Amino acid sequence: MLVDSHCHLDFPELAADIPGALAEMAANGVTHALCVSVTLEDFPKVRGLAEKHENLYASVGTHPDYPDHPLVTPEELMALAAHPKVVAIGETGLDYYRLTGDLEWQRERFRTHIRAARSCGKPLIIHTRSAAEDTLRIMREENAGDAGGVMHCFTETWETARAAIDLGFHISFSGIVTFKNAVELKEVAKRVPLERLLVETDSPYLAPVPFRGKVNRPAWVRYVAEEIARLRGTTLDEIAAATTDNFFRLFRPGDRQLEAGN
Ligand SMILES: [Zn+2]
Ligand SMILES: [Zn+2]
Repeated sequence: MLVDSHCHLDFPELAADIPGALAEMAANGVTHALCVSVTLEDFPKVRGLAEKHENLYASVGTHPDYPDHPLVTPEELMALAAHPKVVAIGETGLDYYRLTGDLEWQRERFRTHIRAARSCGKPLIIHTRSAAEDTLRIMREENAGDAGGVMHCFTETWETARAAIDLGFHISFSGIVTFKNAVELKEVAKRVPLERLLVETDSPYLAPVPFRGKVNRPAWVRYVAEEIARLRGTTLDEIAAATTDNFFRLFRPGDRQLEAGN
């Protein structure tokens, strides 16, 4: 049993064949997937998937790579996050790789998401690229540890992983960990404590080896877990069990439905 903790099933590459993606998940032992929102405009599509399919969950947030989107407020995020199948806030964070110039708006938007997550008690999905120092600084300044969450598609150093773990966060690996040249990242994947480990696809992007370059899909989270098992000298079963437990402990989807029902 495996869970894809981060995918974008609403993106056109995957949205055209949801039944196919779900069937493939089932065939690969991938029981659940978390569909992650990147803009509030697209959020209804993400929520729709989670409403229609029992084993899909949703998050709400505006990704740091979307500069031309209106300022979100914590209230707006919290209202959308009240839905029982919305289990997280994000993805949010900082990306100094894709975008340059004055990125103060990115930092402000990140702070807004952290405040919303703390207020509504739902964990954060954090995207960080070429911005580890500022990401950690803002996480500390805003007490992101109160909400907890995950550093998704992790590609940073062990020191950054360690700092995020110390703040109470989980580390999620994508297909990048299967790439031959990801030498340093493979070392990080060996060292993350088992109880803080998650796996994801970030599909339709970042297809793992042996499908590199193809349109990625949630079923292929299996190849990410297999590579992590190989690196850590353990079995796929152990990685699958631990990451699935971690997913349900962090995102508590069943409790969300109970809370909303009361
Ligand atoms: Zn991301
Ligand atoms: Zn993503």
